[in-house]
Amino acid sequence: MTRREALKNTALATLVCATGNPLSGLGAPAAGAAATSTFSLPPLPYSPDALEPHIDARTMEIHHGKHHAAYVANLNKALGDFPQHAAKSIEGLLKNLESLPEQIRTAVRNNGGGHYNHSLFWQMMKPKGGGEPKGDLARAIADRFGSFATFKETFTDTALKVFGSGWAWLVRRADGTLAVEPSANQDSPIMRAADTTLLLGLDVWEHAYYLKYQNRRAEYIGAWFNVVDWDFVARRFAEAGR
Ligand code: MN
Repeated sequence: MTRREALKNTALATLVCATGNPLSGLGAPAAGAAATSTFSLPPLPYSPDALEPHIDARTMEIHHGKHHAAYVANLNKALGDFPQHAAKSIEGLLKNLESLPEQIRTAVRNNGGGHYNHSLFWQMMKPKGGGEPKGDLARAIADRFGSFATFKETFTDTALKVFGSGWAWLVRRADGTLAVEPSANQDSPIMRAADTTLLLGLDVWEHAYYLKYQNRRAEYIGAWFNVVDWDFVARRFAEAGR
């Protein structure tokens, strides 16, 4: 593990895992650990109703407790007969999908992608979030997009245009520049470019908003900006640049 990966894992583990092995959700298991059930569902870092009224409690309960849990279960199932791959970190798996046996590649892509994306997504939100980023991240956004308002418009437009199920992302590329990119299903930009860092992601699958917003995706996107944890995004930006 490089220092950069270690820092990322530490940040994720600190925020996500309340108990147990801090890396059980995202990293490789300890040497000698059983090959089965490698990955586990990280607890929500706040109560399901904490993001009300922007994201409703029932949606959070189903989204985390059913959808994310199913991605974890199906990822472990796919890896069950392949202990040499089950020992890898989730990022390592997703960045090297072509190295996997063809028979499990799609399952790992979909369910591993789902596990990774959602593990980040919960941490990218917090009660009383929103507002605007500060410091180096704010400057990088202004440099790339002109202003925070223009970034928000670009990100919103990208999220609205995802046809069917997918995500909108703010990423940091290896050269340090920022970009807004969509992805389909549970894919993410790290599958296309392994040296990309996901800074902020918005789940626009209908399961993320349909109970409260039905077909009104634009309303969901606007409300979601009120719960973005810009401090978490800024930490990922800073760690990626080290
Ligand atoms: Mn989702």
